[in-house]
Amino acid sequence: MSFEVESLCGSIDKMMQKHLPPEEVRRRDEQADPPNHLLKFYAEMGLFELVMPLQDHEWDLNRWQRLSIIQERLGYHATMAALLYNRVACFGMMTLITSANKAQQDRFLPQLVSGGGAFALALSEAGAGSDAGAIQTRAERFDAGWKITGRKIWISGAADAIRLIVAARTDPISKGGSGITLFMVDPDAPGVAMSQLEKIGNRCSLSYDIGFEEVAVKEEDRIGDVNGGFDCLKKTLFYARSGLAAAVVGTAQAAVDMAATHARDRKQFGKPIASFQVIAHRLANMQTDVDLARLLARELAAAIDSGKDCSRLAAQAKLVSTETLKRVTEHGMQIMASAAYASESDMNRYWRDARLYSFGEGSSEVLLDLIAADMGVGRGVAG
Ligand SMILES: Cc1cc2nc3c(=O)[nH]c(=O)nc-3n(C[C@H](O)[C@H](O)[C@H](O)COP(=O)(O)OP(=O)(O)OC[C@H]3O[C@@H](n4cnc5c(N)ncnc54)[C@H](O)[C@@H]3O)c2cc1C
Repeated sequence: MSFEVESLCGSIDKMMQKHLPPEEVRRRDEQADPPNHLLKFYAEMGLFELVMPLQDHEWDLNRWQRLSIIQERLGYHATMAALLYNRVACFGMMTLITSANKAQQDRFLPQLVSGGGAFALALSEAGAGSDAGAIQTRAERFDAGWKITGRKIWISGAADAIRLIVAARTDPISKGGSGITLFMVDPDAPGVAMSQLEKIGNRCSLSYDIGFEEVAVKEEDRIGDVNGGFDCLKKTLFYARSGLAAAVVGTAQAAVDMAATHARDRKQFGKPIASFQVIAHRLANMQTDVDLARLLARELAAAIDSGKDCSRLAAQAKLVSTETLKRVTEHGMQIMASAAYASESDMNRYWRDARLYSFGEGSSEVLLDLIAADMGVGRGVAG
């Protein structure tokens, strides 16, 4: 880690200790109170500025590797903090940078960089989860713009988003990923109705069911080409998967550290439980899993920086990191037993939250299909 990144991580530690200490993470999780106040501190520290291309529009060669370390550090302190950062940096800013026109970038990038809010992705529908190409929400042309009608589900951070990025079918006879376009929609626009969904984990990232009833959208709020929405989403996929992989590696490390500390402190049969080989080996395997997941997450960040095609690596990093978090938190719950089962324990929050990441943003099964296809095996192979 370079001196610059190391000192940035030190500043993140201080900022988190001051503005989102562990007891505040617990309170917010219990009360489902998103830590949106962090955005302004991220901005003050220049964490969003790091995502921007340099003055001469060239990318800094270590940019994404640096961001990956920052995302991991935030995830170590609190997954909710890393996911909030990622929603602005990997989704909002990268969608604007890779797919929006200059006017749209000028309109929204300064607001995101200064910590003024986040975007929300409105893609999933009741009948379109893993099969995102099955969406039914439609956008029809009228006068100078479009009217959107349909229903989205499980949309994170929708109510307080600056804009919803809504995927809607613009070619009524199209199927699958073609014929879909992205639009920026004001969550307060007439015709938008939201209700909040209750859930067992990730309680600080509020989820919404959203109805769109002939919501008028101006032509200037269309992102990318008409019918080119999936191409736009694919352009941000690597960044989103890289950010999520780094964040969950950070949380997985926090879970291992917590389980190891508990095992050293907790005495049964007159000895610390860490002295029992079965516990010590379990912890050694957990740490090895996290180290392997970190290597893959950093490898992905390096591949992004070098401009290589990283579809397979992005799928692998997301698969390995999220499955690792699920595994180590399951072990953490067993090692800490009743101490983890108590509501106030951070371990059960890690464990509850971990359930989401192996199916959200591309389930493990779908990612394995992608990796298999890249290897020339699986569904695409002729019989
Ligand atoms: C808390 C939360 C936040 C979310 N945030 C957002 C958001 O901000 N924006 C958004 O658009 N969406 C969001 N989602 C939706 C999320 O992306 C979907 O839940 C996810 O895509 C999975 O869809 P599904 O739940 O309908 O599961 P399904 O697609 O019904 O899958 C069910 C199971 O079948 C498996 N499966 C499906 N297809 C195949 C296949 N071809 N081969 C093998 N197995 C398969 C899956 O892997 C899974 O195990 C969120 C969801 C949650 C719970």
